[in-house]
Order: sequence, then C-alpha cells, then structure tokens
Amino acid sequence: MSKNKGKYHKKYDWFYQTSEWKALRSARFTYANGLCERCRRHGIVAEGKEVHHIVPIDKDWARRLDFDNTILLCSNCHNAQHERVSPLQKFNLLWEDLNNGGTPSEDGTEQKLKSK
Ligand SMILES: [Zn+2]
Ligand SMILES: [Zn+2]
Repeated sequence: MSKNKGKYHKKYDWFYQTSEWKALRSARFTYANGLCERCRRHGIVAEGKEVHHIVPIDKDWARRLDFDNTILLCSNCHNAQHERVSPLQKFNLLWEDLNNGGTPSEDGTEQKLKSK
C-alpha cells in the first residue's frame, strides 16, 4: 500500500487544503503568537511562516492533526528541518509555492496577528 507514492502525494496535497488542517495551522499560529518556536527557544524573535509537522505526515499519517505534532517555524528553521529529508523538502517547497501563489495570505496573516 505504502509503495504507491503517487497516490500518497495527492493525499498530502489534498490534506493541506482541508479546513481541519487550516484550523490547526491557525491555532498553532495563535498559540505561538506568530513567532518561530524554534528560534524562541534560543532567545531569538523571528516571524513564524510555516506550521511544520514534527513527525512528517508520510511517516505517521495518524498524527497529521495532532496539535503537539506541529510547530510554527520561520523560513530558515523550516528549510533547515527539511534539508535532512530531501524528497519531503522538495514536496514541501512545491506545496509552499502553490500555497503562496496568487494569494497575499502572508501579509494578511501578519496584520491579523499584530492587530490582536
Ligand atoms: Zn526560526
Ligand atoms: Zn515542514
């Protein structure tokens, strides 16, 4: 079953469009006050850009909506996390690209968080 990568790819793509994921993602943003949680541990204040799965969803699909399995990261930290897993990084960049294309969501999110 897990040998069918193409099917899984579509599954992930679909997952990142679901309202469940979007709700979890925005909850994590709020929880982290819009700041990178990894940088914060080192006393650095950096704007959080992406909610990352600590255990990747291709490794543990059951934890895709586990709040404790998510972390808000800045672009640098997120890239660093994915450099170790090159196929996933490739995939992630792809969906980030899709995500950022067309909608000015980053600015909107930032302003929403700051006005709170
Ligand atoms: Zn960071
Ligand atoms: Zn990630």
